[in-house]
Amino acid sequence: MSLFKQMDKIDIQDDKKMKESSEMEKVKCLIVGSGPAGYTAAIYAARANLNPVMYEGLQPGGQLTTTTEVDNFPGYPEGVTGPVLMDDLKKQAERFGTDCRWGMASAVDFSQRPFKVEIDNEKTILAEAVVIATGATAKYLGLESEEKFKGSGVSACATCDGFFYKGLDVAVVGGGDTAAEEASYLAGICNKVYLIVRKDYLRASKAMQERVANTANIEILFEHNTKEIIGGNTVEGVKLIKRQGQPDESEHTIKVQGFFVAIGHHPNSDIFKDYLNTDEIGYIKTIPGTSKTNIPGVFACGDVQDPVYRQAVTAAGSGCMAALDAERYLGEKASL
Ligand code: NDP
Repeated sequence: MSLFKQMDKIDIQDDKKMKESSEMEKVKCLIVGSGPAGYTAAIYAARANLNPVMYEGLQPGGQLTTTTEVDNFPGYPEGVTGPVLMDDLKKQAERFGTDCRWGMASAVDFSQRPFKVEIDNEKTILAEAVVIATGATAKYLGLESEEKFKGSGVSACATCDGFFYKGLDVAVVGGGDTAAEEASYLAGICNKVYLIVRKDYLRASKAMQERVANTANIEILFEHNTKEIIGGNTVEGVKLIKRQGQPDESEHTIKVQGFFVAIGHHPNSDIFKDYLNTDEIGYIKTIPGTSKTNIPGVFACGDVQDPVYRQAVTAAGSGCMAALDAERYLGEKASL
């Protein structure tokens, strides 16, 4: 189960949910969520003697642990697998004394200091500073065949995995800006890109629509839904339904070796929404150029606050910023 799905179950409107747990612990700097942002924040916070405690969430290491090769993270000339990269980052964070723990934040109370963060509905952490690095979850179509080929032909990130489909034919599903961007990116690498759009128009911005329309090797399949991804050990094609539910509904198959899902992401910010400003999708708003949220002492980094770049390296960079911001905040607080 994804981190988001678990969090979604928690009704934070109900004040009683943030109950006084029997077990309480005071920490200086709490990092919620692992992944490149969380681990990098931990490395910097630990080296600054903030004694960070990290709760890793249900998927320690975050989204990258579900990918195979990562070729674009600087410092790995031969590439690295997602799980190994995350393990390296974790070891580096622990080397400087980060206390990495299993468990996930189930409720928060940022209305008073120290901030209260409840873990797994049973323990309360009282934190002087909180770094949120809970990431975002890519949405998938929910097909069984999609699950089967995740990591071996099905991906939710063209920038991460597009290279493996160099010269091949691929499909992208979605009609928004992300899908249009992913299709354009893949068109520069692949032989042919099918853009599968369920409506008869694109939701993407005018500029992106024009870009897609003017790219010779992108073919837009309007009014198409994905029925099944087919293949043996890897993806070989996609069964599509045209004009589903209409009298002239029909089915056909396209041959592709890669299938990219680009139907949106869900930032894992649900438990913070009562306190932190978010955009309409749920991305936590930070003061531009910083990791600062609307509550001094609460910082956000990585994909939970980044609807645009969503890369491991940008997440790591923003994790560094969050730790530095937390260090300065705690330093100023101590000198008052
Ligand atoms: P959006 O929600 O904008 O678009 C999602 C697309 O996926 C829609 O076309 C939707 O179809 C389709 N979709 C959703 N569910 C399914 C499904 N089950 N089957 C088939 N298709 C489905 O998400 P994006 O990630 O594209 O964008 C999110 C936000 O981020 C937007 O505001 C966007 O503008 C922004 N963004 C900006 C970028 C930039 O500025 N460079 C880059 C990327 C995103 P339908 O239209 O029928 O609902």
